[in-house]
Amino acid sequence: MSASDTIFAPATGAGRAGIAVIRISGAKARSALAAMTGRHTWVPRHATCVRLRTSEGVPLDHALGFWFPAPSSFTGEDVGELHVHGGRAVSAAVLAALDGIDGLRPAEAGEFSRRAFQNGKFDLTQAEALADLVAAETAAQHRQALRQLDGELGRLYDGWRRQAIAAMARLEAEIDFSDEDLPAALQIAVQGEVAALRLEIERHLADGQRGQRIRDGFAVVLIGPPNAGKSSLLNGLAGREAAIVDAAPGTTRDVVEVTMDIAGLAVVIADTAGLRQGKGRVEQEGVRRARQRAAAADLRVVVLDGAVWPEVDDITLSMLDDDALIVINKCDLGGLGDELAVGDRPAMPVSALLGNGLGELIGEIGKRLTERFGDDAAPAPTRARHRRSLEACAAALARAERPQASELMAEELRAAAAALGRIVGRVDVEDVLDVVFREFCIGK
Ligand code: GDP
Repeated sequence: MSASDTIFAPATGAGRAGIAVIRISGAKARSALAAMTGRHTWVPRHATCVRLRTSEGVPLDHALGFWFPAPSSFTGEDVGELHVHGGRAVSAAVLAALDGIDGLRPAEAGEFSRRAFQNGKFDLTQAEALADLVAAETAAQHRQALRQLDGELGRLYDGWRRQAIAAMARLEAEIDFSDEDLPAALQIAVQGEVAALRLEIERHLADGQRGQRIRDGFAVVLIGPPNAGKSSLLNGLAGREAAIVDAAPGTTRDVVEVTMDIAGLAVVIADTAGLRQGKGRVEQEGVRRARQRAAAADLRVVVLDGAVWPEVDDITLSMLDDDALIVINKCDLGGLGDELAVGDRPAMPVSALLGNGLGELIGEIGKRLTERFGDDAAPAPTRARHRRSLEACAAALARAERPQASELMAEELRAAAAALGRIVGRVDVEDVLDVVFREFCIGK
């Protein structure tokens, strides 16, 4: 596979649709357009009606052709686009005809975007945003991806990188041009700047992983005693049969998940094994996983069994932390009373069976997550990759703040700048590229 090959691929999804867009990028894009359409003159970026034929002259489709000469194209190379009718047979025939043209080959997953990055069309965070935008299913994911595509995150990190480089340059200028020791005042001033930058980065990191949660989903777990109706509640919330419901206690031994859109946020709700001193090894393992899951969750919904209310077992009581949302299920059985609370914590009545109170419960989950994570005024790191590099940067800055020879301080600042450069793709990042572009599909 060579980066100088001319590549082609459908840019639209497979299946029946009004149209399918086929992209061609590289030095032979123009001759490929000519071979497919018989047309040799193109007005850049104008829609042109064309008839597509194979090299033997077999008609393939009536299509729209576009010509985007380099560098004003998605990849920065010469690009041709064919908007054909969206049937499988049409696309397959056009792709086969393109494959028959000398010097053309099908694109690898993410190859168009990778070329665009390499030709300076956008930075790495914007490439990631493109993948996120295509994958976005909720309003918050959509908003976040679009802001990142606008370059908000890249500009922030690049600004910090410049600050680190500027501080380094000031030290190096002194190192290079003075015979004597560096003026202490300069070192102290640079240390102050470095500390301010490190604090800013640490504040940015201390966001409860909002950006990653918006992208990957907020974790909500249902916990409680066996038979309280957790599986039924999960099914009720999801509006479909996703969890196994059984009248025998202890049936949900593993964790079952459902992803929902709540208040524009992707929320992954997990049903867990009932909390009790399990008899068998498998059940004990389920309880261990339930606790682990609950500890890592963004929100815990403790489900109590209305059939035995107000009795609450000790294990469940131990899970009632300040942030937990308490629901009492099976309110259809009656006799729960009016003011529902466990100690001084209010509880919501629901019936998984009849669907009573589920709208209120979904509303409350959305409200709590929005209160805690909804402030999206400031951009947030959206991937573990960003976080790791930011942490490496902050650590290098912290080392730079120590009293030491100016050369060593400058070296730490160089490491801090390089860590930020890896996020946006400003330093040599061949290894990072494979990670970033692997998540793209063919045609992106
Ligand atoms: P889990 O062990 O907590 O997951 O509980 P399940 O969802 O398997 O439910 C246990 C039993 O309670 C089943 O027989 C359900 O039909 C019953 N159940 C669940 N929710 C309700 C409810 O809202 N009202 C009534 N009356 N029964 C329920």
